[in-house]
Amino acid sequence: MINSLANVLPIVSRQPTGKAARRKRMTLIAGFRCKEGIVFCADSQETINVDGVDYRMSVQKIEPHVAEKRHISIAGSGNSTLIESFIIRAQRAVDVSTASSVEQLHTLLESELRGFYEEDVRLCPDEDKAIKLFIAAAIRPAGYQAWVSEGIKLRPMRAWELNGHEEALYRATAMRLYAQDMNIAQGILAGIYVLTIAEETSNYVRGPMSVAIVRENGIWMEESAYIEGMQKRLADYDHDIHRLFLACADIGVHVHELDKIISDFGKAATELHRGQIDRYISSLSLDDVMSRNDPYPKLPRGSLIEFGTFGLRMDHDPQHMEATRQRFRRLQIIGEGGPIKWSIHCKCGNEFVAEAESYRALWELRVFICEKCGEQHNVANMRIEDVKLDS
Ligand SMILES: [Zn+2]
Repeated sequence: MINSLANVLPIVSRQPTGKAARRKRMTLIAGFRCKEGIVFCADSQETINVDGVDYRMSVQKIEPHVAEKRHISIAGSGNSTLIESFIIRAQRAVDVSTASSVEQLHTLLESELRGFYEEDVRLCPDEDKAIKLFIAAAIRPAGYQAWVSEGIKLRPMRAWELNGHEEALYRATAMRLYAQDMNIAQGILAGIYVLTIAEETSNYVRGPMSVAIVRENGIWMEESAYIEGMQKRLADYDHDIHRLFLACADIGVHVHELDKIISDFGKAATELHRGQIDRYISSLSLDDVMSRNDPYPKLPRGSLIEFGTFGLRMDHDPQHMEATRQRFRRLQIIGEGGPIKWSIHCKCGNEFVAEAESYRALWELRVFICEKCGEQHNVANMRIEDVKLDS
């Protein structure tokens, strides 16, 4: 999990102290509570100090530990050795636990935390023993929760929280991005954005980032390629959005000028958004689409993906999407053998509906006579569009 010292880089040379390696985890972890779960984003850097020189090393912090239906994920900042020993301790306890609710897991982990302070922390020879932990837990299918350590207690994580190298700037950014009803995808984007700003402004925060999604069906890690794609998508909008923001508040800009700026931005943003969806879809194989088991929806609800010699393609035209959806629905009615209503449009102008328990039953009835003119309508002439949809 931890790279050897050979592939880490010294970043800052400070006054030599002559002390042995001191491992302090300077990192940044951002947590957001969303409508359907909790999202954690963490950078992958740990800074260790050897003889007064800071070294960066890459660590993975939030990979979940799974013991049957119990999933836990622990990330922390502060004394690395202590964080790791708590992680081992918590994982062992969860492995032999019979906890069947998040409340029981909370009791278990809090008692482990107390034991950890009484033994590990007490015996640790380091000067700086401070740690702060984020612990996420999910029990399928009973629930999920995230806690933050305060000494020997674990309290529920607030709506959003940062852990580690939390500067005022990162806190302000997280606060601005948080929304009470944010979905998981937007929670992840908010976390990635906070970490991106930290990466740009601090020596102590470095990607690649990892993202964990905590839901009642477990704790899931987002794929690293997808995280990079999300970072890229945010960067695409960043410049234009800030320009728009300043223009809106600038009373030296005429109303008609602002109108033009907003409309140009709208067009550019829509194009960009469409391009981002298309690029994502074209990166998938048909197999990916059929077997995808994402913990949260990545594409717009009700998306239609077409495939052919061109590969995979997303339909962006709402009218065409609706027409395709209706056609599918009619084919389903015909194929599944459920109740069917056939709209008959008679030449005399009379419109009436023939109903049957199934398409097969409609076939057996075969002929329907118009009450007005006596014309016979044979089911063989029924078109797919004549299958009546209720809604
Ligand atoms: Zn008729």
